[in-house]
Amino acid sequence: LVVPDFKEFVAEIKKLYLELSDFKGGANADYIPQLSRANPDMWGISVCTIDGQRFAIGDVDIPFCIQSCSKALNYAINVSELGPDTVHKYLGKEPSGIGFNQIALDKHGLPHNPMINPGAISCCSVIRPKDTLADRFDHITEQYKSIAGHEFIGFSNGTFLSEKSVADRNFAIAYFLHEHNVFPKETNLKETLDLYFQLCSVEATCDSAAVICATLANGGECPTTREVCLSPDAVRNTLSLMFSCGMYDYSGEWAFEVGLPAKSGVAGSIFMVIPGLMGICVWSPPLDELGNSFRGVEFAKRLAQRFAFHQFDVI
Ligand code: GLN
Repeated sequence: LVVPDFKEFVAEIKKLYLELSDFKGGANADYIPQLSRANPDMWGISVCTIDGQRFAIGDVDIPFCIQSCSKALNYAINVSELGPDTVHKYLGKEPSGIGFNQIALDKHGLPHNPMINPGAISCCSVIRPKDTLADRFDHITEQYKSIAGHEFIGFSNGTFLSEKSVADRNFAIAYFLHEHNVFPKETNLKETLDLYFQLCSVEATCDSAAVICATLANGGECPTTREVCLSPDAVRNTLSLMFSCGMYDYSGEWAFEVGLPAKSGVAGSIFMVIPGLMGICVWSPPLDELGNSFRGVEFAKRLAQRFAFHQFDVI
């Protein structure tokens, strides 16, 4: 067993869960009603090890939109299908040092990385650009389902419609990318943005997302179904970029304090990967100033203090 004292481990997670139930702060994202209306008291932690041991506590079977966590998955799927060289013709590997929705390119004229909006929109443009939008959406969500071990993956049409209706910035980013010839030539800009909004509006639960994280912790093989969903290279690249760029403008501090590949989304989830060991998904909607789950970040910091999960801990 990869976590030999699973019971003991679980007891600690449970303690952390209870400790943090009173840890309140931050505010729900409010740029669309679907996020501002979310119940701020929702709080869930779900764990899945690479040998399929499970633990979950709190609101772990309530759907939430994965939002920016989709960025990590889209990149992983692209690299797995097309290889890193093709994918990186359209985006870089460097933290941007500026907000996730800034209109900016790196010194090579490419989006900085796939974990922020310009890179994520660019990533959506390389997903089967010649196919219909419907086929592209089905293709990617089928991959999500496999990576999640065929546990819950849903879609919030309300979120999609809202995202699309307040999308000036994302449209501005997409036109900027188009102006700078970042997209493959077959790209339909509006459909690519629709795909981006739709994939942000895909729903998971803490439980299904923990399986997603565990698949990433396990080199791309889903620990519950044993299906190989992603190539080892794609997972390595994805975890590298989650480590350096996954937590918006907190990524450097997160790498320092927590030391784990992770990706957060504005609905309040954080996908955390402990490579070779387990995946953990935490969900609590109120966000801190940088857009990461207020409680989720605190959970990760306390976890790092109690267990030697930091990638550079010497055991
Ligand atoms: N849909 C959001 C956007 O593109 C995603 C933001 C996020 O989770 N950071 O603005």
